[in-house]
Amino acid sequence: MYSTNDIRSAFLDYFASQGHEKVPSAPLVPYNDPSLMFVNAGMVPFKNVFTGLENPPAPRATTSQKCVRAGGKHNDLDNVGYTARHLTFFEMLGNFSFGDYFKEQAISHAWHVVTKEFGLDPSRLLVTIYHTDDEAFDLWRKIAGLPEDRIIRIATKDNFWVMGSDGPCGPCSEIFWDYGPDVAGGPPGSPEEDGDRFVEIWNLVFMQHLQANDEIVSDLPHPSIDTGMGLERIASVLQGRQNVFDIDTFRNLISASEDLTATRAEGEQRASHQVIADHLRSTSFLITDGVLPSNEGRGYVLRRIMRRAMRHAHLLGAKDPLMHRLVPALITEMGQAYPDLTRAQPLIQEVLEREETRFRQTLEKGLRLLDEETRGMADGSALPGETAFKLYDTYGFPYDLTVDALRERGLDVDREGFDAAMAQQKAAARAAWKGSGAAADSEVWFDIADREGATEFTGYSATAGDGHV
Ligand code: ATP
Ligand code: MG
Ligand code: MG
Ligand code: MG
Repeated sequence: MYSTNDIRSAFLDYFASQGHEKVPSAPLVPYNDPSLMFVNAGMVPFKNVFTGLENPPAPRATTSQKCVRAGGKHNDLDNVGYTARHLTFFEMLGNFSFGDYFKEQAISHAWHVVTKEFGLDPSRLLVTIYHTDDEAFDLWRKIAGLPEDRIIRIATKDNFWVMGSDGPCGPCSEIFWDYGPDVAGGPPGSPEEDGDRFVEIWNLVFMQHLQANDEIVSDLPHPSIDTGMGLERIASVLQGRQNVFDIDTFRNLISASEDLTATRAEGEQRASHQVIADHLRSTSFLITDGVLPSNEGRGYVLRRIMRRAMRHAHLLGAKDPLMHRLVPALITEMGQAYPDLTRAQPLIQEVLEREETRFRQTLEKGLRLLDEETRGMADGSALPGETAFKLYDTYGFPYDLTVDALRERGLDVDREGFDAAMAQQKAAARAAWKGSGAAADSEVWFDIADREGATEFTGYSATAGDGHV
């Protein structure tokens, strides 16, 4: 059986044998894009190469890039633990051509990797293309011999990648695995596509045009290739699992949390174990890359993820801080591929333990308030925004933690009311400052805080810069 570590190596080795330079994963905090919260796709570290600002490391490259999608445009946080295929932290395997090969070779490589290197049954693969991309249609017919009904034309933005309103852009093609008729869900583009039967494993981007002000203005003289395959998703397929949380890496992490909490990842407790395992990875890798919990910006996204996991640890009955005790299992799984993670182990454990100790002081009281406030609420109704704000302000409950806690009870939160309570508190702080007799120009700090987007909330409201597709 292919272990997740073997799959990563097999992918990188194949592309290295095809003239691609193996480039190590860049850190999760993007060095080249302050507008982006975290690296969320393999192409992000190469953005300046694709726009021509930087020279490529080689004409062709291959990477396994650490990605976090918990904020900004690609925010998968709310899904995690509850779908079979979304993680906040995952690795994206990719091959890149910087003005070297293009569509035909990209499709050939991808088809070769999935059917020959990985040996997947071609009759269970299907692809999508951008609806006008006849060239891709013909290539999939010719190279893969796919029947016409398994090359699905999609007209939405899902299959047209842009870097921003200005820059390179082009059509995409996504490769899907069919888990078979026993699993609910329909093919991409159909009304049932949200099910788990057809899972996207690989996304190929054909950068062939240049955009200015959201309009295609020319064709690139040297078109490029950017691809991204989710390591955990391909591992699920190769290990015959339908859920990413059932692959080797996650099984080992989950069995550690089962042991430490004396519970099983079954029934209602399954989601909690999944959330904990996923969030353990994202928080540990973020701390390794220099992010620390705080009340704003990236640090607040980290805090939100940590606290979300910590509530689930509490749900499983953990009486003491749990997360830091799971770090050794993570190091066993991933330390070899990521030596920085091993080096950061003491720091990760200390930060997790301190945060959990601190949060546990208010967690229980906050949950009690939540219980009282929701008693008797009708299914589908919304918790008043002021209550959600009180949980945030007094008990340290990030907004999405409250949403997550209510989800089990079939309740919602009044988001507008929450935002209004937040705005009111800010206005009050400002007024108090004014009345305090402090120098008038100190107010500039409030203006900056407002303009810079009260960074504690950018995690879920702002559209951070774009990454991949
Ligand atoms: P989906 O439509 O399933 O949300 P996507 O189109 O948003 O995926 P891409 O941006 O194309 O994903 O990323 C490239 C690949 O990375 C995907 O084909 C998938 O295999 C993987 N991937 C994307 N998001 C996640 C996630 N949250 N967890 C695990 N793997 C992911
Ligand atoms: Mg997505
Ligand atoms: Mg998709
Ligand atoms: Mg995609």
